Amino acid sequence: MKYILIIGDGMADMELDELGGMTPLEKARIPVMDSLASKGILGSVKNCPETLPPGSDTAILSIFGCDPLKYYSGRAPLEAAAQGISLNEGDLAFRCNMASIEDNDKPFGDKKIISHSSGSIDGRSSRELVEYLFKNPIFKAAADAADVSVSPGDSFRHIAIQAKGDGKGLVLKPPHDHLGEKVSDNLPAGNENAKTLAALMELSNKILSKHPINEMRRREGKLPCNCIWFWAEGTASELPSFEMRYGLKGAIISAVPLCKGIGTLMGMKVIEVDGATGVLQTNYEGKAEAAVKALLDGFDFVAVHIEAPDECSHDRDLEGKIKAIENIDSRVIAPVLKALEEKQMDFRMLILSDHRTLSTTGAHDGDPVPFILYDSVHDTGQGRKYTEKEAGDGPFLQNGTVLMDYLFEKEHFN
Ligand SMILES: [Zn+2]
Repeated sequence: MKYILIIGDGMADMELDELGGMTPLEKARIPVMDSLASKGILGSVKNCPETLPPGSDTAILSIFGCDPLKYYSGRAPLEAAAQGISLNEGDLAFRCNMASIEDNDKPFGDKKIISHSSGSIDGRSSRELVEYLFKNPIFKAAADAADVSVSPGDSFRHIAIQAKGDGKGLVLKPPHDHLGEKVSDNLPAGNENAKTLAALMELSNKILSKHPINEMRRREGKLPCNCIWFWAEGTASELPSFEMRYGLKGAIISAVPLCKGIGTLMGMKVIEVDGATGVLQTNYEGKAEAAVKALLDGFDFVAVHIEAPDECSHDRDLEGKIKAIENIDSRVIAPVLKALEEKQMDFRMLILSDHRTLSTTGAHDGDPVPFILYDSVHDTGQGRKYTEKEAGDGPFLQNGTVLMDYLFEKEHFN
């Protein structure tokens, strides 16, 4: 038996007026997922514990069987692991987003947050800007004084590390949850260190605004990438070994550092796919191909994570979100199924959204999400479609940490 996990990040949503009361999942044409739901088990699951902010970090830990209440020490340390960074005792890691705030002469705090990703800035420009910033003499002096260094990533997401950083009481806000709001309402707060971090963010705005890349972006009608945004702080984390826990060899395919980091920390093979970007125009077919190849190469389990629906929701691109869901159906799941059927492999497949991302606000939501558990050798004939509503009529799992047990048949639905 082979096992496949497909995570469509932030696919689940609420009913929307502009879709005539339908959710994006209901509106999307997803014949493959609908067919798997009708022949498999369709239920709903809560992946985000009530006491933690909803997001992919906690949700995906749950999906991989790691209780976030026990294992979650912040998102940035998980992402740092993806970059091969091991944190020292006392290190505080942050996500350092390349964000866009209002591009005008207002005081820093009065500007509004426009985009958490500078409109999904390309990796090359993002890296060039952050490297320039941390080498700029004025910024470097301030960063050195605060013991903050940066480790650039391949998109708008970089990792910053503060040696001996004080995270006690520190409150950092995720920029994607506060779009359109004033910077001053969302700056680091809660302790002395917060002032240091806020000052670095303000300084970054002054320096980045004038960079030639941003002059060019303005001319091209793109958002200037004019502010770094620290959030997702955390200290070193350790996760249990996937293979020891489930007795299976696992691999993971994702564009985003968070998933790669969770995979790395659990000892799974992280498979890189060219052109996997985390946005709507990602290499869907490449991910499907890599998943099939991993299973043929001897892996028992492969996870494929697709970030696009979540990013489209944050960008308030409803049409893009629906398209991303359709692409997952026709360009990831369909080719994987076809290949497995051709190879006559028996398999079980779990398909789900990690958390909801709301098209109305662009923010994450921790309410239960629909899942499909399909077994190629057993047709349940339940005949339901993959929607939030229909999943509500199926089994409900209060805690996503048991999902792998169901996928691997250690637990069974009656
Ligand atoms: Zn998200």
